[in-house]
Amino acid sequence: MTINIKQTVIQNYIGGQWIESSSAEQEAVINPATEELLAYVPLSNRVDLELAAAAAQKASVSWGKTAVPRRARILFKYQQLLVEHWEELATLITTENGKSYEEAYGEVQRGIECVEFAAGAPSLMMGRQLPDIATNLESGMYRYPIGVVGGITPFNFPMMVPCWMFPLAIACGNAFILKPSERTPLLANRLAELFAEAGLPAGVLNIVHGAHEIVNGLLEHPDIKAVSFVGSQPVAEYVYKTAAAHGKRVQALAGAKNHSIVMPDADLELAVQQIISAAFGSAGERCMAASVVVAVGDVAEPLLEKLTEAADALTIGNGLDNEVFLGPVIRESQKQRTISYIEAGIAEGAVLVRDGRKDAAYEGKGYFVGPTLFDQVTTEMKIWKDEIFAPVLSIVRVTTLDEAIELSNQSEFGNGACIYTRSGSNARTFRENIESGMLGVNLGVPAPMAFFPFSGWKNSFYGDLHANGQDGVEFYTRKKMITARW
Ligand code: NAD
Repeated sequence: MTINIKQTVIQNYIGGQWIESSSAEQEAVINPATEELLAYVPLSNRVDLELAAAAAQKASVSWGKTAVPRRARILFKYQQLLVEHWEELATLITTENGKSYEEAYGEVQRGIECVEFAAGAPSLMMGRQLPDIATNLESGMYRYPIGVVGGITPFNFPMMVPCWMFPLAIACGNAFILKPSERTPLLANRLAELFAEAGLPAGVLNIVHGAHEIVNGLLEHPDIKAVSFVGSQPVAEYVYKTAAAHGKRVQALAGAKNHSIVMPDADLELAVQQIISAAFGSAGERCMAASVVVAVGDVAEPLLEKLTEAADALTIGNGLDNEVFLGPVIRESQKQRTISYIEAGIAEGAVLVRDGRKDAAYEGKGYFVGPTLFDQVTTEMKIWKDEIFAPVLSIVRVTTLDEAIELSNQSEFGNGACIYTRSGSNARTFRENIESGMLGVNLGVPAPMAFFPFSGWKNSFYGDLHANGQDGVEFYTRKKMITARW
């Protein structure tokens, strides 16, 4: 399947209409595997945002009072349409993001699961009552939408991450303004078209394309009551502080540096297969990517040998080609940034075991970096500290599990962490002592399902209530307590 993008400059979706941005500023949307120009994305301005805020505010009033099962029925229809368009959506993800088709197909599934969870709104939004808090006195809690919610999303999951936000926010009775990543803006428009086809009233979901100007507008606008953000750590921190300063609820999911501890008793074949997939899948551009392996004791040598062998066997290329595992990184700038990290690793004394720079060319086009492996990495090195967000895996050697946990906990991030072991006792020690919010045992990408919260810790998350699960319902609703005497 190939994708034909109809417009040169894509449009915003406001109040149920496709509208040209009033801004003359645009950015090119490029297929990172072929460098083909797909479209231009407008860098919208505050005039565009004002229109969207007014449309959302108006729609939120009637939508918030629409019976919850009626809202849920539209989500059921939306789920059906997403399933029917699964292949088209996956193809579009690969075309604008570069990840392999298989990964994109899986991403669509993750998005659909969020819609399925949100369709449970009638149960999720239930309140609670206590009939007798004193003689003839009753008390109850009722849950309501909060009004208009803004969402700001990253390039690496054009479907899944927006689906962490708007389906649940909308099922809970809110109107939503989404600002997708300007690097992967195309899929969001398709998601909006399909939601309209499912029967969503005009103005309930709006899309305003752009960059920091729209982000700042969302953070400052008085009619926007809450902001959901997913992206890099510095922007997440900025969004958290600025939104809070403007009196808004905010959840800001940020960057990561996920450690995988491999114990001497691990099933090595399984560990290697999982780590390779977690480190190099989606070209390492995943907030749950494995970026550091902590090899415990004498597992280091055989592990390194097997990881190198497996990395050598990966097929690099255009993600739309069936056999391809590793696609490009998102832009030339990201490729250059990755190369400068590889140079920094060498300069700081890490041992470059496999150099992805040698795989960089693919038919002379695209932003490719091959799987890169560093051994003898230490916590003083930049390649250990920073999120590189590319197919670069660092190996650190330690002698005990306690040392491995202590080292992992030194990271400023705490998104995910994994352990590979056959011992329940090791797994328990890891679970109890690791400072990270999403844990994997003998599993490489422990991203929770939509009905659980996506639970980063430390600088991987700013806020109180996480995305998805009951946390998401709490975030997108407010409560009334009633105490009554009759
Ligand atoms: P990014 O921070 O560059 O961009 C995210 C969003 O913020 C985009 O919509 C962008 O337009 C906007 N933005 C960027 N710079 C801004 C600025 N200076 N002011 C205001 N807005 C700005 O992130 P990205 O490169 O698109 O995505 C990758 C990052 O997202 C990685 O750090 C990754 O770990 C993180 N991420 C985290 C999770 C999670 O669940 N914790 C999930 C996916 C991605």
